[in-house]
Amino acid sequence: MCPPQNRMTKNLNWKPINPPRNLRPDELAIVNKLLSAAFPGQGDLVQQIKSTKVISECQCGCPSIGLKVLDQGAKPAEVHKSVPVEAQVPPMAEFKLSTHVLLHVDSKGFLDELEFYRDDGENRLIKIPDPESLELIVLPE
Ligand SMILES: [Zn+2]
Repeated sequence: MCPPQNRMTKNLNWKPINPPRNLRPDELAIVNKLLSAAFPGQGDLVQQIKSTKVISECQCGCPSIGLKVLDQGAKPAEVHKSVPVEAQVPPMAEFKLSTHVLLHVDSKGFLDELEFYRDDGENRLIKIPDPESLELIVLPE
C-alpha cells in the first residue's frame, strides 16, 4: 500500500496523449534507474519497458506520466505491491524538500505510471531529476 502522502497525489488531472509517444530519454533514464533495484517482478518490468508508451501526462506541470505496455504478449510482472520501487531525491540546496519518484504497476502486473511529487505538494515545480541523484527505495514486504 502507498503511504498516505502518495495517495493524496492520485487526483491527477491527466491529459491523454494520442497517439501514445515513446518515453523521452530523461524519462526512460529514470525508469531504468528505478528498475535497477532488486524486487519481485523486476525482471518482467524490465522486459515490459521495451514496449511501453506514454499515454497521458499530468496537466499540473509536474513530469508525471501515464504508461501503457503495448505488447499484448508481454508477461505480467508478479510484483507484490502496486508501487514495487520508488526513489527520493535528497533536498536540493535551493529548497529543503525531497522530491519523490514512484513507479506504479496496475492490478494486472503492467507498468502504469511514473509519478513525481514533492513533500510540499508544489509538484508543478518539479524538474526531472538526474537519475544519479535518485536514492532507490524498496519497501519491505
Ligand atoms: Zn502533476
